[in-house]
Amino acid sequence: MTRSAAGTIGLPGRNVGAKSGLNRSILDAGWGVFLTILADKAESAGRELISVNPSGTSRTCARCGHRAKENRPTQAEFACTACGHTAHADVNAAINILRAGLALRAVVEAA
Ligand SMILES: [Zn+2]
Repeated sequence: MTRSAAGTIGLPGRNVGAKSGLNRSILDAGWGVFLTILADKAESAGRELISVNPSGTSRTCARCGHRAKENRPTQAEFACTACGHTAHADVNAAINILRAGLALRAVVEAA
């Protein structure tokens, strides 16, 4: 999340000043403070924040659940070697993270 916002010569970043300022703020404050601020912002916006373990979410197929590093032919591409599902890697991972959060919320509600 704190990767350089400047981009490359061939693909320059957008809103570089604002992003580098955010990066600096996150690195200065540390992740614990960042997550506290994020939780406060979510609450004030009437949103729910659920922390999930992101392990494997970028390698796991959102359609069939097959998990393998070979599912990621490039940084941006997701192509499941089991079922053939293809998507942008970030979209596929976001679906897995959403499901993990909803599963955790269901556990909390059932308790
Ligand atoms: Zn699959």
